[in-house]
Amino acid sequence: MCTLNIVKGLAVAAIILAAIAMALLWARSNPEDLPWTQLDLADPVGAFTGRKLSRLTGDTPLCRNLLDDAGIAYEALPPRDSGPNCSYSDATRPTAASGPQQVVLAPTDVTISCPVVAALSLWEWHSLQPAAIEHLGSPVARIEHYGGYSCRRMYGAETGRWSEHATADALDIAAFVTEDGRRVSVVSGWNGEADEQAFLRDVRDGACDLFATVLSPDYNAAHADHFHLDMARRGAISGGVCR
Ligand SMILES: [Zn+2]
Repeated sequence: MCTLNIVKGLAVAAIILAAIAMALLWARSNPEDLPWTQLDLADPVGAFTGRKLSRLTGDTPLCRNLLDDAGIAYEALPPRDSGPNCSYSDATRPTAASGPQQVVLAPTDVTISCPVVAALSLWEWHSLQPAAIEHLGSPVARIEHYGGYSCRRMYGAETGRWSEHATADALDIAAFVTEDGRRVSVVSGWNGEADEQAFLRDVRDGACDLFATVLSPDYNAAHADHFHLDMARRGAISGGVCR
């Protein structure tokens, strides 16, 4: 009887140890799905990638190190001091397509924060290009945008909350141009050809895994002609808003 209990106890202990070992092995090979691991832009997009990207807001050295490690070419823009609502310290401008970056932003003289650049890169690799190949048959070469930094409140109102654009943490995307010259705009493609509709919805959904806020034509009329993508700090705590 006593021997049987010892054997049972040993079996239970062995099962628990095996489970712990498997959990540790899984954790080692899936750091993107764990909240406490360091973000690495080379990892796949996981359950906590978006929150980790949002956490980069306020840690410019770490963010730029991650861009360096990933081989992303950029120009570090000088900080701007325009009062409590319209200043930034981490503006980072992607430079011409090189290495892992195949997409250029047009116009090129965009002012966006480092976390936005990091999220844009992951979006390009894991969402934009696969969706472009699948639905449009050609990779994206250019993203046309309406701008990043802009000292204004939400919707350009006189009062109310300040926009994420006021700290360079947002980018408004208007259209995509493929390598073979096809232009898919948000305003005409959202309800346009079937392949355009599928492409735009796929990339909107892909952005939702990365950015703190994604607003598309599904949200309201103010976003009928662009995707608003931002890296609001809120995203680090409460997760993303995807509409
Ligand atoms: Zn916007």
